[in-house]
Amino acid sequence: MASPFRSYLNDLYNKHRGLKKGRVADYIPELALASADSFGICVVSTDGQTFEVGDCDKTFTIQSISKAFVFGLALEDHGRKYVNSKVGMEPTGEAFNSIILDEATNRPYNPMVNSGAIATTDLIKGRNGTERLKRILEMFGRYTGRAHDINVPVFLSEKETGHRNRAMAFLMLNFSMVSEKIDETLDLYFQQCSMLVNAKDLAMMSATLANGGVNPVTGIRAIEERYVQDVISLMLTCGMYDASGEWAYRVGIPAKSGVAGGITAVASGKLGIGIYSPPLDAKGNSTRGIKVCEEISRDFGLHMFNTATPKHDLVTWMNGDHDSLGW
Ligand code: GLU
Repeated sequence: MASPFRSYLNDLYNKHRGLKKGRVADYIPELALASADSFGICVVSTDGQTFEVGDCDKTFTIQSISKAFVFGLALEDHGRKYVNSKVGMEPTGEAFNSIILDEATNRPYNPMVNSGAIATTDLIKGRNGTERLKRILEMFGRYTGRAHDINVPVFLSEKETGHRNRAMAFLMLNFSMVSEKIDETLDLYFQQCSMLVNAKDLAMMSATLANGGVNPVTGIRAIEERYVQDVISLMLTCGMYDASGEWAYRVGIPAKSGVAGGITAVASGKLGIGIYSPPLDAKGNSTRGIKVCEEISRDFGLHMFNTATPKHDLVTWMNGDHDSLGW
């Protein structure tokens, strides 16, 4: 008695695997080694069911997706008021690495662009870089239910070529937006971006947020419940680079993407989606990932503002059998 949702994901995978649009990121030299054909889709429901198709065990670096979750850890470390005073909550409409800062409030605009993410990483507590990195890796482990490593070549590649991020960090230091330990923080930022995940991890991470901060499989709390909405709301407004507005309109599921081709998307109270497919569009989002999320959202009525009866009922499709649906 197979779940029809599994067949649905298989069909979706087969429909989009041949899509040739987009380019694998190469501005960090190590990223260019990824295969354009890699493609995995994973969905984890808030009651702990996992549905996967394609390359869901293949690891890649989390990149910008880390920013949303490290923001959550900074909130736990300092509380909302302080974190809000250090990094804003307005989308920039600009590229993720643009050198713009909110001079009126002396903050970077939001935690999802590089400047804001570096300022957020600066807030992570710990006696030294090692302890801070350990805290970040352990936090991700609570979300995914497994231990995580850094891809050292990617980390070194980012560090060697990350002049723009370094320039931005020093500019923020000049304005007292970040603390003096800037070299340690930059290393930490490059390390968090170089952490290895797979599509299953990304689905588990967003399912954990969708489930109020508790991993639906392990039962372990990954983030205090009161901060879950902070993370998800900024994913909605700023999570998909300068395509966040279009994503909110077309897909309507808060999400965060990264330049290695990952997307994590949170349908609150229902499920998390994890995608891996390296070719990116001009804004930096996975081309197959966009198609897949758009279709899942439409077919199951997951757009956060949808009130119409969806084409398929999610619960029936996840739990039901083919016969009861007339297959
Ligand atoms: N480590 C990357 C950078 O700072 C993150 C890029 C991304 O995924 O958007 O350039």
